[in-house]
Amino acid sequence: MREMPKRFALSLVVNLVCLVPTASGQDDPGTLGQRLLQQPEVRAALAAAKEGEPEVIDVQARLCEIPAPPFKEQARGDAVKRLFEEAGLRGVRIDRVGNVIGERPGRAARPNVVFSAHLDTVFPEGTDVRVTRNGPVLTGPGIGDDCRGLAVVIGVIRALSRASIETPGTITFVATVGEEGLGDLRGVRHLFDEELKGQIDRFVSVDGTGLGITHIGVGSRRYRITFKGPGGHSYGAFGLASPVHALGRAIAKVADLEVPAAPKTTFNVGRVGGGTSVNSIAYDAWMEVDMRSADAGALAALDRRFQAAVDAALAEEQARWRRGTLSVEKAVVGDRPAGATPAHAPIMQVAVGVSRALQLPVSLDEGSTDGNVPMSLGIPAVTIDGGGRGQGAHSLSESFNATESWKGTQRGLLLAIALAQR
Ligand SMILES: [Zn+2]
Repeated sequence: MREMPKRFALSLVVNLVCLVPTASGQDDPGTLGQRLLQQPEVRAALAAAKEGEPEVIDVQARLCEIPAPPFKEQARGDAVKRLFEEAGLRGVRIDRVGNVIGERPGRAARPNVVFSAHLDTVFPEGTDVRVTRNGPVLTGPGIGDDCRGLAVVIGVIRALSRASIETPGTITFVATVGEEGLGDLRGVRHLFDEELKGQIDRFVSVDGTGLGITHIGVGSRRYRITFKGPGGHSYGAFGLASPVHALGRAIAKVADLEVPAAPKTTFNVGRVGGGTSVNSIAYDAWMEVDMRSADAGALAALDRRFQAAVDAALAEEQARWRRGTLSVEKAVVGDRPAGATPAHAPIMQVAVGVSRALQLPVSLDEGSTDGNVPMSLGIPAVTIDGGGRGQGAHSLSESFNATESWKGTQRGLLLAIALAQR
């Protein structure tokens, strides 16, 4: 899911869209959604999406009751595969890492639009994932993030098929693995590195609830840093260099790092541990550190200063005491690339234009989603919310209010059709 979304005022983007000069208006990506609405078959597809929304909500609840813990998405993936097959997609398959893939061929293979949502949740095995309904409100872990996205993917496929929409380009539907936490975007990485390498022209991820458009992919780098030494008795072996003391020096240095406010760049020592007892010089001490930025350069610069701080802490502790050789291990436990689709990029103009054509509010967000990977590669990408209203993402009491959630399905549908144009 998007972590820490931030909403921006839209005036700038709207102006950019309006400023795009076109002779006839026929090539203006900002008005593509509006122009598509003039086609009767597109209107029929949108009507089918609205009419089919109760089934979409059923799919959302049903998929959500199939556990999909991190690295264990297979059962939910199998269910999505069956839905892809029933909906008539071609080449339906599960790739080596567990992504579910199915194609809806257009008149040509290109442009190829990937339209996706993620299978995995943050909830461990054994979590009670039953979904309860109370009027329009569905409650259950993962019901919004990202069972909603998966349901919108299915809703879009069905609406396209019911209205017999033909697109110039191909739409490849994907349910990805490994979006959350330590999954570290492994599903979407595999798509771009191997499975569909060189074959993706445009990328959409449907993630979570609401009607926002995420175009800034906040990157992160996470480490587990472990200092080690011989350890010994606190009194008898006094004078040995200490991993805990080295860790303390490192944390003090990290705490003093200066970072830019814009692009927002952050760091946090989230967990620490180690040592044996109060009367022992520790033989190990560790910390887990999270660093983030919307800017790849700023993140890389912070990473270098962080590593230098750790090395300096080791050297200082070593220099303070003559005995006991210290070492440090820097294990990367998370690495999400930063990237952004500029607000004036054609795919963003299309996405904003589609929302406006459907008379939906437009709000631009930043976050950490599957979209980070294509954004970091310079491939046009946006992450859209799936409609409805969500609460408590990543909590056991997560809920989804389906009032007018069909608007989210319609928006995803019109965006998919628009991006499959030449
Ligand atoms: Zn998500």
